[in-house]
Amino acid sequence: MRKRILFIATGGTIASEVTAGGLKPGLSAEALLRAVPAIRELCEVESLQLYDLDSTDIGPDHWLGMARAIRENYARFDGFVLSHGTDTMAYSAAALSYLIQGSVKPIILTGAQKPMGFDTTDSRVNLLDSFICACGADMHGVMIVFNGRVILGTRARKTHSKSFDAFSSINFPHIADLRDGHLTQYIVPQFAWEPSFYDNLDTRVSLLKLLPGADCSQLEFLLGRSRALLIESFGVGGLPHGMHRAVLAAARAGKLIVMSTQVQNEGSDLAVYGTGRPLSEDPLILEAYDMTTEAAVTKLMWLLPLAGNQAEAARLFYAPVNRDILTAGRK
Ligand code: ASP
Repeated sequence: MRKRILFIATGGTIASEVTAGGLKPGLSAEALLRAVPAIRELCEVESLQLYDLDSTDIGPDHWLGMARAIRENYARFDGFVLSHGTDTMAYSAAALSYLIQGSVKPIILTGAQKPMGFDTTDSRVNLLDSFICACGADMHGVMIVFNGRVILGTRARKTHSKSFDAFSSINFPHIADLRDGHLTQYIVPQFAWEPSFYDNLDTRVSLLKLLPGADCSQLEFLLGRSRALLIESFGVGGLPHGMHRAVLAAARAGKLIVMSTQVQNEGSDLAVYGTGRPLSEDPLILEAYDMTTEAAVTKLMWLLPLAGNQAEAARLFYAPVNRDILTAGRK
């Protein structure tokens, strides 16, 4: 039986056209499908034009909209392919990983660095590869398919701004390769027969990237307007001594503080240095360990409406979802 796949278009370079004001999404979902006739030879496809946006303009409301579209159509289709701009695709993939957990059906995000209409483009191969994956037997849950690689939705990061090799899988191997239309899968994603859908995100989450020598003013500004703050510190993690008191006081006052690192690979280990150890020993300070920033901030948005207190928030933060954290539960 041919699989039934829902194609959800949201915009991005893949659908963009040259205009006097720069590249802008304009190609419809159906036009994208027409450009790759092999897709309709592979499976039954219906399309939904959900948005028509550069992904710079996509945010939490759109993530909820994507999750809603998938939920409403979940029973009718065997899998979902979403076309999306590359700039914030890793955030959308992470957010969808929390909003739809344990899906046995594949939910694949893809896009391109060059528009479908260009002579040299990665659009066609990425779109076809995504449908090949969506028809695969062991593909479950949220993932990104790009440049011949399949990356879990919680592990992706845009690491090249121009070349076709735009995404990397961070602190976890990519789960499959695609070459000339053939899928070679190494890791089977976890799933449950009944997915859990969520329909709420608390966007009062901020991200502070530390600058050497920074004073506390930015930190205090962000703490004042957030329920949760992710601090990207240096190396394996730590805070300048002048910031410790403000951060610990905020945690005592009920803010969720998560320590992370600006270094892309290998994650944090706050206990190593004197600049981090007192924070690592404090049960109210959380640590992102091997999680990506994209996963950590969207996980915070997802768990804030669910957690009644900080202990519950910590439990949810460290509970692995779609293999987003490997070194969980050290605290
Ligand atoms: N600015 C575009 C977007 O994210 C870039 C892309 O799709 O590659 O929508």
